[in-house]
Amino acid sequence: MRHRAMRWLLCAALLAMCSGATEAARPATIDLRTKSGSLGQLAPVALGEGAVYVSAERLAVLLKGSWQVRGARGTLTVGSRSAHFTQNQARMTLLGAPVTLQSPPRVGPSGWLLPDDFLTRGLAKLAPGVTALRLSAAAPRPQPRPQRPTVAFEDLRLRSYPSFTRVVIETAAAVPYTVEASRAEVRVRLAGLGLQAPQAQEVEDGLVGALRLAPDNGDAVLRVALAAQAGEVKDFTLQDPPRIVIDIHRPKQPASPDGGRPGMEPLRLIVLDAGHGGHDPGAVGPSGLQEKDVVLDVTRRVARMAEDALGVKVALTRSTDVFIPLRERTNFANKQRADLFVSIHANAHPRAVSEGVETYFLSSEASDTEARQVAAIENGAVQLETPASRQKTDLLKSILWDLAQSEFQQESSVLAETVQDSMTQSMRLVNRGVKQAGFYVLGGAAMPAILVEIGFLTNPREERKLAAAEYREAAARAIYAGLSEYKRRWDQRMRTAQAAPARAQRTTR
Ligand SMILES: [Zn+2]
Repeated sequence: MRHRAMRWLLCAALLAMCSGATEAARPATIDLRTKSGSLGQLAPVALGEGAVYVSAERLAVLLKGSWQVRGARGTLTVGSRSAHFTQNQARMTLLGAPVTLQSPPRVGPSGWLLPDDFLTRGLAKLAPGVTALRLSAAAPRPQPRPQRPTVAFEDLRLRSYPSFTRVVIETAAAVPYTVEASRAEVRVRLAGLGLQAPQAQEVEDGLVGALRLAPDNGDAVLRVALAAQAGEVKDFTLQDPPRIVIDIHRPKQPASPDGGRPGMEPLRLIVLDAGHGGHDPGAVGPSGLQEKDVVLDVTRRVARMAEDALGVKVALTRSTDVFIPLRERTNFANKQRADLFVSIHANAHPRAVSEGVETYFLSSEASDTEARQVAAIENGAVQLETPASRQKTDLLKSILWDLAQSEFQQESSVLAETVQDSMTQSMRLVNRGVKQAGFYVLGGAAMPAILVEIGFLTNPREERKLAAAEYREAAARAIYAGLSEYKRRWDQRMRTAQAAPARAQRTTR
């Protein structure tokens, strides 16, 4: 009585497992074949724990053999060869030799079920010349979701450019991902990415409305809400550190395919960036003069001159004593679709006798040790933004994360040479030259971008000069003259390009 009840329970359990498991996973149909063709197909059944079974009776029919049950034992015979199975025991006998299967045979409502590994381990001996082939590409076994090691999330960044918005996900190691784009959003699934808490960012750059990165079922899902219709969505990966880059392009405007390219359209807008501000004083001179005040004054003077005499628009990243994160400065220029970005600073150096002017453009490799130090000092402002989140990020890698400036490096160097020449010639200052270094503030600019150091605040003699309105006016005029010369060359190129439109189109595509 007790034995019977147990058996009934087992059958009931198997029944439940059968109906539940076949829905969850459909193992590939198995085709039995000989050299001369197919013998027919088996429909495998998946039971719990990932085991897959085939019907013993059906197997016997296809093999043109027999299946006989006696009590808890079943025998499959093909010609003179036979295999003996015992219910619920993985150990079986094949041609008289013991074999242990991965799972024991089961008895379900439709009869005996044999574990499918018998087909790989026993079929060739029982029925020589017959092979079992899985037909579909579906998962052969309803394996539980593989345990992937979780990869740590590092950072989520966004940059707006005139023609696209770039989202970068930095991770501790490479992560498999999928991208799906619809009208309303771009959705990126990052397999096995571990996230402590959801990340959200308001963007509103006219293309992207907001970002949200949240854990989802052992993965992380990034949802980029679109505020306008997007064009092409591109994705690629970068190494060291591992990053996934998603570029969401604005729809193509056929009217001006070369919009904003130097030499193709008039120089329209220059963004001037007065360094530092607010709780970030920048360099401080021996008598207390602060870089943020000097450069704001000089920047405003340059803006007035350029607007009055150059016929271009000038926009300032700051016109008052406020703190602006470095990334916001170029984001602003990108959103405005500026043609040039000029950041104005004054130096600090431990050696008080250091003097002169120098102009920088962005490079991953600093041109010398001093250039690297200047970049490190100017980049220090990042620490004043959100220290906890910034400190872990390697600065130089952050600067170069999107490599957007590399496209403009040549043009940036021309702009830097032009402004540096103008400053040293008109002001008879020590010419420290044009240099390259990894300036964070220039990193995301989608246009030619330079950083001008107009003098050393830490040099008492230069500090006195920088405190005087006449000197500031002269410095501003020199920068303005450099921009004016650059614009003259720009206009010249534009005329050349317009004179030979067919040739220009070929070379700018
Ligand atoms: Zn500075």
